Amino acid sequence: MSNPNPVHYVPLTAPDGELAGYIWADAAAVGWFHRPAGSSSAYRTAEEWHDRARELHGRGLAPRGVLSMLSREPGVGPVTEAPDVAAIEELARVVTPADDRRLLDGLDRDNADAWRELGDAFDALTDEDRDIKWGGGQKRADGVQHVAYPLYSEGLRRVVSALEGVGAVSGEYRWMGNPMPDLPPDGRLSPADAIRAATTTVRGERVCDGMIADAVKDGLLDAIVASLRAWYAEQPSAAPGNMCRFCGGSPAADVTFRAHRGLVILMGFKKTDGPMCFTCGLAVYRAYTTHTLCQGWWSPLSLFVFAPLTLVRNLLAVRRVKRLPAPGPGTLGPRYDPGVPVHRRPRAYVALVPALWVLFMIVTGLSGAV
Ligand SMILES: [Zn+2]
Repeated sequence: MSNPNPVHYVPLTAPDGELAGYIWADAAAVGWFHRPAGSSSAYRTAEEWHDRARELHGRGLAPRGVLSMLSREPGVGPVTEAPDVAAIEELARVVTPADDRRLLDGLDRDNADAWRELGDAFDALTDEDRDIKWGGGQKRADGVQHVAYPLYSEGLRRVVSALEGVGAVSGEYRWMGNPMPDLPPDGRLSPADAIRAATTTVRGERVCDGMIADAVKDGLLDAIVASLRAWYAEQPSAAPGNMCRFCGGSPAADVTFRAHRGLVILMGFKKTDGPMCFTCGLAVYRAYTTHTLCQGWWSPLSLFVFAPLTLVRNLLAVRRVKRLPAPGPGTLGPRYDPGVPVHRRPRAYVALVPALWVLFMIVTGLSGAV
């Protein structure tokens, strides 16, 4: 049975392969649908094709002829029949796995600091942070009504900027063309929907006061953060390349730490090398350096050569570890506890004995020479 009033369409593909939208034509008109879930660049592609279609139609080409003409161009699919225009609009509303992936690709999975900040900021939210007061709203003597505006606490602002920090407020999501993702009854959002909701809430707040307040009240903010944290926890070791030899976290720097024991009879050298994350590397540095400061001096060769050399090499190595961002989740096992800095470890002050002795020898030598 043939449709008495057929509608046809062609799919449009952006240069990067993203499905951009559809141009449709019936007996009288040419129209288009962009995909609301698509990127801004895909939107522009669809818009350009629509301009081209209108131009061809304006030059007197029949609507169906416009489609055939376009379908010969690269990036435009074959002419297909649809039951009606609404069916094509529905097609344009389909959210594809590629749409989700594009948003997830925008998350900064290698920035371990940003993810930790998101967790810390959210966990630090208090009931006062969540109890949002409004300012303004009063009527002035001349009758002008002040606009009310939400007063967000520092803690809440910190969560919002942490969401931006991990890349969850995305320019890839055209929030104005889409409804706010619904919060399912179980309160769980997919990570892509968490990005959509975060973007709509944070960007929307600039246009419409109270979006963040609403998100706090109805649990959307909690769902966003929970979903993003769960996503991050499932990521395989954060940065490519080195993995800490102790905990499996990354990034890690390939370093060597040494400890020297310089007893008169027993001299000992100990070293540990391999990729180490910030936390484990600092732990090894502090332990070995303290050990050397305490036991490294008690032979002439140790005092003047090995102990100072060990300390300097450790200092150079720890600089590389300290430049690393905090490690992502570990996979091998528990992480070393770096403990307190070397200068707060009493054993390290044993080094004052040989140092003072050397100073004493120098001073007496100098005064003897005078
Ligand atoms: Zn580690």
